[in-house]
Amino acid sequence: MEKVQKSLVLIKPDAVERKLVGKIISMYEEHGLNIAAMKLVKLDKTFAEIHYKEHKGKSFFNDLIKTITRSEIVAIVLQGENAIEKIRRINGNTNPEKAEEGTIRKMYALNNTENSVHASDCEESAEREIKLWFPELVAKEEWFSARNM
Ligand code: ADP
Ligand code: MG
Repeated sequence: MEKVQKSLVLIKPDAVERKLVGKIISMYEEHGLNIAAMKLVKLDKTFAEIHYKEHKGKSFFNDLIKTITRSEIVAIVLQGENAIEKIRRINGNTNPEKAEEGTIRKMYALNNTENSVHASDCEESAEREIKLWFPELVAKEEWFSARNM
């Protein structure tokens, strides 16, 4: 029995603009993942920079912030067995040219920056990102306790 986890997924502006939200959510559902929370938001620069703080100073950082703030995003908490790794596999490589057939990024990403989706990369970042994006839900600390996963 694998561990049940939560992960933060973002459907980025490039995908929302092209009306790919339904198709992308279907892929996660088809892999057995459940939606635990979801909302449509337009980020401001400050919030985007906090979300992506690990990349501050990198060559692509300014482009990334501009791209992620240009129109609405769908933010989702997905839940399921081994969710963090499973979602990263469904999304595919950051670079769509390197992404495997059948992954979201292979099918839909436009380039290295406009790559349609984000997902937490480990348990620690999932917890940080879910608390950042859905503070109203995690005010109750038990949202992260084993019996509620
Ligand atoms: P991932 O989204 O796969 O976890 P990273 O955390 O490394 O990838 O990067 C965060 C985001 O920054 C990527 O999804 C992508 O939008 C952008 N990015 C990463 N690397 C590059 C790059 N070399 N050139 C342009 N944009 C990039
Ligand atoms: Mg990342």
